[in-house]
Amino acid sequence: MDKRDWLIKACNARAWERLIWRLSIFTVSIFPEGQEPEEYDINYKDGKAYSFIEGEWVMLKGVTNDEPIFVPEEVFVLNPEEYPRHKETIKTTAGRYVYNWIVVHYAFGEKFLYDNTGLDPNDFSRRLYGMCLEFEDDALPDGKEEFDIVRPSEVGRFVKGVMETAPMCMGIVPTGSLRSLETHPDLYKVRDALLEKHKDELDDPAVVVRIQKVLDDLDTEWLEQDQSIDFFRSKKSRMRRRKLLIMHGIEAAFREDGKYDLIPTSLIEGGDLTKLVAKFNSVREGSYDRGAETAKGGEQVRIIQMIFQNHKIVPGDCKTKAYHRAYLNEQNVNRYVGMSEVVEGGVQPLTLERLKSRIGKYVDIRRPILCQMPHIDTCAYCSSQAKSEQPRAVAADVASGASNVMGGAMSSMHGSDPKVNEYIPEIHIS
Ligand SMILES: [Zn+2]
Repeated sequence: MDKRDWLIKACNARAWERLIWRLSIFTVSIFPEGQEPEEYDINYKDGKAYSFIEGEWVMLKGVTNDEPIFVPEEVFVLNPEEYPRHKETIKTTAGRYVYNWIVVHYAFGEKFLYDNTGLDPNDFSRRLYGMCLEFEDDALPDGKEEFDIVRPSEVGRFVKGVMETAPMCMGIVPTGSLRSLETHPDLYKVRDALLEKHKDELDDPAVVVRIQKVLDDLDTEWLEQDQSIDFFRSKKSRMRRRKLLIMHGIEAAFREDGKYDLIPTSLIEGGDLTKLVAKFNSVREGSYDRGAETAKGGEQVRIIQMIFQNHKIVPGDCKTKAYHRAYLNEQNVNRYVGMSEVVEGGVQPLTLERLKSRIGKYVDIRRPILCQMPHIDTCAYCSSQAKSEQPRAVAADVASGASNVMGGAMSSMHGSDPKVNEYIPEIHIS
């Protein structure tokens, strides 16, 4: 039987409900001797893949010897009715097909159509929020049918389905391809030529970042068509791949003058003895100092929570005449949402629309630091109406400042990437 037809038959027969089946489609699995096979179980004999169909082991066609039946990125054509309510002929991948069954179909049955986009988790959760009833036995809202809504138990099944994909990761290693162990054959030549061409400008991080961009593009071109490309598309993995294979790049020790050391070779090419000092600096800060700073950030969060634990946002208005005059631009427009603007004869809540309509102008804003409430409390008008509903939330809110310190230390620990942004004084100085 052709392996594509087999996959579709097996999935429609709900073979994916069994963990052993899910684990074996993306790996080479040997069926244990002396056990009774079930429908669509998989076995390998002499390098060839077999599946147990209607009482006998049938060889699957299209499988390379000693290779898994599918890699998740493998493209095939999906015809109408080969997935519930699916009505067109499309190209999809084995991974997506199985994912739709195990997660989407398992959770919601036929409520959702086949998803061929790879499901952006944020989009999908927004969609679910819009459809989900509050309680399991809530009546259908007016004008809605069972198909238009999602019940809490279905969301529970969805989470379970997503978790069921985790064990499959053992067999799915996108970076486990031979091609991803190497880079474009011309890459080092191009790199060395660029470094030579710009040798007088290498103290400018913008130049280094531009060189890295050219090399990244060349490497991406090399990986195009490879199963590892989706993994290396993420910014973090790209940065790590660059340090490993392309060039180590900028190593910025914590120094006052803002200078840095450029390490033009990659880890895989071996150590450059002339850059030993910079590397040692980075290794030392990376493994101990910066790691220790993570703890410092955590400690700061606790201290700030202790300081602010008795600080409350209380209802009412302290009627202060003091305010902060802020200039609104694209960069800071979100910062003041929910606060109060001082206007003739009172205050007005600052909604995002109101703020956006005032970009390029000044607004007078009430601030907690200027509040006249007794004790160390602030009134709802000087902080925010929404926050006054959770009077104690202020400690958690203030602590997020220290969480940023912790995040910064952690990124130094795990490797970071220089970025170049255009400097706009009107926006960046406020
Ligand atoms: Zn106040």
